[in-house]
Parts: sequence; C-alpha cells; structure tokens
Amino acid sequence: MLHTKNFSTIAVMNRTILIQLRRQALPVSTKPLLCFPRQYMSTAAYADARVLSEQPHEDAVTQALRILQTAPIAWSSSGSAAFDFRSDVVTKPTLSTLEAIIRCSLDDDVYREDAATLSLESHMASLTGFSGAIFVNSGTMANQLALRTHLTQPPHAILADSRSHILHWEAGGIASLTGAMVQTARPSNGEFLTVEDIKKKVVLSDDVHKCPTRVISLENTIGGIVQPLEETRKISAWARENGLKLHLDGARLWEAIAAGRGNLREYASCFDSVGLDFSKGLGAPMGAVIVGGADFVARARRIRKGMGGAMRQVGVLSSAARESMESIFGPGPSGYKDGGLLRRSHRLASRVAGMWIEKGGRLSRRTETNIVWVDLKAAKVEEELFNEMGAEYGLRLDGSRVVLHYQICEDAIGKLEMLFSRILGRVSRG
Ligand SMILES: *Cc1c(COP(=O)(O)O)cnc(C)c1O
Repeated sequence: MLHTKNFSTIAVMNRTILIQLRRQALPVSTKPLLCFPRQYMSTAAYADARVLSEQPHEDAVTQALRILQTAPIAWSSSGSAAFDFRSDVVTKPTLSTLEAIIRCSLDDDVYREDAATLSLESHMASLTGFSGAIFVNSGTMANQLALRTHLTQPPHAILADSRSHILHWEAGGIASLTGAMVQTARPSNGEFLTVEDIKKKVVLSDDVHKCPTRVISLENTIGGIVQPLEETRKISAWARENGLKLHLDGARLWEAIAAGRGNLREYASCFDSVGLDFSKGLGAPMGAVIVGGADFVARARRIRKGMGGAMRQVGVLSSAARESMESIFGPGPSGYKDGGLLRRSHRLASRVAGMWIEKGGRLSRRTETNIVWVDLKAAKVEEELFNEMGAEYGLRLDGSRVVLHYQICEDAIGKLEMLFSRILGRVSRG
C-alpha cells in the first residue's frame, strides 16, 4: 500500500517537473528525476516525458548557459590555485575546458566508439610520431600500465633513476603489478642520468646470479631539470643495441619543450613508450596518455581493462585534456613558439629563485623550468615552520619544492617575497 502511494506521489512530482521545465522555471539539475522508470510514472507523465526526450534539449542548454553567466561557479576562476605553490596538479580547469566538455561526444570508449577519445588518441600518436596511443586516468596509471605492458614474467628488472617518481610516489605499483626487481642508478652530474651512469648498473649478462634488466625508465623533467635530448639519444641508441625497452615518464615533458629543449617528436623517437600527463601544468581535471607502437598499445588496452581502467563515456575527460593541452601547451609538437603560459611559469620560477638568492638564500638544485628548490636546511628553517609561516600569508607550500604554474597570481609572488624576507632575516634590496 505504502509503495503504491509513493509511486503516485512520484508520478505527480514528475508531471510537475515536466510542466515547470517547459516554463524553464527549474534548474537543469532536476532533469535526472525524469529518468524515473516508466512503471513509476502515470501514463500522462510518461507520454510527456517521451515527447520531451524527442525534443532538442534547448531549454536545458539555455539554462546551463544562464548559470554560467550569472552564478559564481568553480570553473570561472583559479580560486585557491592562485596562491598554491605545492604542485602544478592544483591547477584548475577553466571555462574553456568546461565548454569543451559541453560540446564533447558521449559514446562508449570500451566499444571504441567515442569520437573525442579516438581523436585525442590519434592526435597524440601523430604529435609524437607513434602508431598508437591510449588515454588513461592518471600519470601514475600511464607509467604503471606501460611498464606492465613491456614486461612478461620474472625474473626481470626495471632500471630507473634512484630519485624517480615510479619508485617513490606510485605506491609500490611496480612490485604489485609487475613483480619486477628495481635497479637504481644515480646521476653522476647530480642532475640527470647519462648513458655511463646506466651502463654501470644495468644487467645484461647471462650470469644466473643476476636479475636481467628488461626496461630502462627515464623521467623528464626530473625535479624540474630537463633530461637533455642529446643524452637521451645516446641512451636510446645504446638501449636499442642491447635489446632493452626504454620508457619515458614524461608527466612534465611539456615543460622541457616549453623551455625550448626539443619537441615531442624528437623526444618520443628515443623511446618505446612515453607517458604524458594532462593534469599537471596543463590544468586538465584529470587524464594522461601513453603513446607507443600499435601492437604495444593493443596489449596495453587489454591490460588496462583488467586493471579496471577502461572507461565508458570518457569524452568528458578526453575533450577536457585536448582543450587544456591546446590552450596551455599549444597545438603542435613544439607547443607555442614562445612557450606560451608554460614559459610564463618558467619566468616566474626564475624570479622566485632570484628573490631567494638575493636575500641570501641558497638553492639545492638549478631552476630550469617551473620548479624552484629552496635550501631550507641552509636557511635553518624546518619545512613545517616554512609551511606554517607561508599559511600566515595565505600561501600553500610544501617544504623546499616551490612549484610555479600558470594560475599563480602576482599577489602570491609578492607574498612569497615577504615570506622569504622574514625567513632570511633581511629586507629586500629591490
Ligand atoms: C605527477 C607525476 C606522475 C603521476 O601523475 P598522477 O597524475 O599524479 O598520477 C608521474 N611522474 C611524474 C614525474 C610526476 O611528476
């Protein structure tokens, strides 16, 4: 009895919603209610719903546009990102990204029917000179899936920079997903791996005591430092001679390119697979891509499915990724000629580095792209105190790594300068 009563109430509600929708009196968010199953609707309401679903959705679009123009929504400003130096992952998608999402296709990507995703993947393949590409939900998944795809079964090893993201910031994914042993190499120049550094640690021998290296994984940029193209080419030639696969964690490869240190195609041609992240400095809400050969990508597609990473109406993500890449990095393999908004954050980074040095601070690494490493130990300040003092100025900091991105505002740089002055105990000369 109770049920019947509820159903008729719902039927009345549905009819009311329909009438109000027609008068454009209700926000679009009520629309999902209309999806209530047919058996719970009165015949009249059902007939109305059918008519409505056959009409163009103009009312809903008009209302959505009205909301965009009048209501303060998160998409319309950088918000807290403007004062956030913890990472470039904090960048927020913009209204142009939202517009791309509104216009995107909504078909199923597991069936390989979604135009936005197919188009992004073929675009990424052609930008990088590969025959395949696969969209994934994060930079971590790009690395882990690529490594898993290159490998077969133990005993096998992955050789990587001892500081690399795949070893320290991916939750031990290599151990659980691949069973590979990890071999680490340290850059003798303190900045990036050379072919000599790698030769010292790699295992090519047939000695039964040893675990054979199968994949070398590089990272570019690494801690904001560019892995130069020249050295990458040497490593690549040597790896190919020795039958080793070469993967690039290119979460921030965009930054190396914006800094004028090579283009996507030049770097990609050195590798068997490259992962690129859309959600760092480019500002997409999420998403990354792996580019590689068609066979490699076909195998990755099956493994991604097994990991639960195949997504359905993924156009909402891939269209956002495409828009973010084109507006922030640029449309071609070299990005914008003048580096665009990424180059602006590099200029901000060198200003920040300069501010710190001018007040007597030291840097623990060079500033080449968008990351500044302030030496807090030398300044005799604990990371926690540095973060807390920053918060007094409304800044979000994460210790000695100060990351610049395109949504950082001028005001935040001014506040950071005041903080530096206080910490280093001197008044700026400038
Ligand atoms: C951020 C980052 C990743 C992982 O990206 P998520 O999208 O956060 O999973 C991988 N490698 C490097 C070098 C990164 O900076």
